[in-house]
Amino acid sequence: MKIVLEDMLKGKRRVAMGGHVRPDGDCVGSCMGLYLYLKEQYPSLQTDLYLEEVPEAFDIIADTDEVKTRIGEQTSYDLFISLDCGDIARLGFAGVLFENAEETLCIDHHISNDAFADYNYIVPHASSTSELVFNLLDEEKISRSVAEALYMGIAHDTGVFQYSCTSPETMEIAAKLMRKGIDGNRIIEKTYYEKTYIQNQILGRALLESMLIMDKKCIVSVIRKHSMEFFQAKPTDLEGIVSQLRQTKGVEVAIFLHEIAPQKFKVSLRSKEKVDVSEIAKYYGGGGHVRAAGVVMEGSSHDVINNITARIALQMNPGAEQDVSS
Ligand code: AMP
Ligand code: MN
Ligand code: MN
Repeated sequence: MKIVLEDMLKGKRRVAMGGHVRPDGDCVGSCMGLYLYLKEQYPSLQTDLYLEEVPEAFDIIADTDEVKTRIGEQTSYDLFISLDCGDIARLGFAGVLFENAEETLCIDHHISNDAFADYNYIVPHASSTSELVFNLLDEEKISRSVAEALYMGIAHDTGVFQYSCTSPETMEIAAKLMRKGIDGNRIIEKTYYEKTYIQNQILGRALLESMLIMDKKCIVSVIRKHSMEFFQAKPTDLEGIVSQLRQTKGVEVAIFLHEIAPQKFKVSLRSKEKVDVSEIAKYYGGGGHVRAAGVVMEGSSHDVINNITARIALQMNPGAEQDVSS
């Protein structure tokens, strides 16, 4: 069924929106793009956006200070819109608002998404959720602020129009957004490339300690809690490290482990051409896209790497032996 935003909003008075935990550029871009559009075009609607703390770099997008980082008195909404989120658990603290809402809509591009809302607009081959939000809006009514948010989201999830998810449609949408008078260069520089000193230091640490495994087809790096404390880094400071690892010549898969608790790791996976990392992440309870996926895994870093590489080996060479990490 085709989703028509105007029909979805008919008769609604209170709308809540949310995106995935540890919001990234596409999550913030798609949420803010739709949020700003609803505020401008449907002023009588009460629209509330719930997200975990938005990384400071995204402050150049209008009204990010209005994002609600916790649930207040209002807990029931006529409609909850989930954006850039592959499953309910990934909505984090806002999940309860999704459960309580009269009606739910999911806008997403994760291949692992099993259409968990009443209405679903899920296009796994789309570059980004921001691209999908653009498709739902009336182009004429897109303001400069909305365009800035969506452009940021598209730029982030395409690795600045580089990854294979970048389609001719993606470029056409980016062009239409540029014509709204945005400063695209500044958005990309400030939100994607610019790093704080701490971010660069922790990136350096991850690169220095990385290892090539599986006949140099895989690169792996681990950042432990004590390193985070040493550099005074926040989890959001690790954004981009796995993409940098992936750029290593000759490598097909990059594996980045971030220790979030003793014997517990947030695992980020990226691949270049062959390996479906979403299959691997999903196998261990996570999800994502064919070329970018994530999962939380328990055990020692050695166990986690062993388990992941066993699945990579199965894809690269069906029937491969299990222990291939050393
Ligand atoms: P990350 O490695 O955290 O940048 O995530 C890569 C992609 O996988 C993003 O599209 C995430 O939304 C998705 N992803 C990351 N972690 C998980 C998880 N635990 N469960 C489902 N999807 C995830
Ligand atoms: Mn995302
Ligand atoms: Mn996305």
